[in-house]
Amino acid sequence: MDIDLAGVEALIRDIPDFPAPGVLFKDITPVLANPAALDFVVRDLAMAFSDDEIEVVVGIEARGFILATPVAIEMGIGFVPIRKPGKLPHAVETETYDLEYGTDTLEVHTDAIEPGQRVLIVDDVIATGGTAAAAIRLIERLGGQVAGIAVFIDLAFLGGKAKLGEAPFHASVRYD
Ligand code: AMP
Repeated sequence: MDIDLAGVEALIRDIPDFPAPGVLFKDITPVLANPAALDFVVRDLAMAFSDDEIEVVVGIEARGFILATPVAIEMGIGFVPIRKPGKLPHAVETETYDLEYGTDTLEVHTDAIEPGQRVLIVDDVIATGGTAAAAIRLIERLGGQVAGIAVFIDLAFLGGKAKLGEAPFHASVRYD
């Protein structure tokens, strides 16, 4: 399958004023629908941390799941979901974090990550970084070690990476 990063980038669709006025939404569905582009992105995210002894991939609901699961398969390791409240059936750890307006909450099963386990967080887009920062806090509360953060798109002009601490960070595509 023949595509390069520029070809993948060309498939990212800008949707102005979605889901709210003033937001330029990066729609990745054309990337997901293209087999060569999907393969490129999954490999890029997995390869960025292939030498880091990652033991488990964590994906953040909902679009994070789409990329995190194939990245876990590509790396030959398991997948753990971080979900919106009320979705996980077993005992959970909960983290509430601030949004521009209001708050949001994420949950993870308390037994999903073992103490000391090396975790790779995978998500579609880093915007303000609030969601990924909350995921880091949840993983660390379970004793996990965030060994990397891999995202398809970094909206770098929003400065989200600064909220993510010291963990190695990789984005396939960056908008400055
Ligand atoms: P944030 O917590 O601000 O980093 O963003 C939370 C989530 O919102 C990201 O994981 C994306 O799925 C989504 N998101 C935020 N801004 C955008 C955008 N401009 N385009 C596409 N997705 C976005």
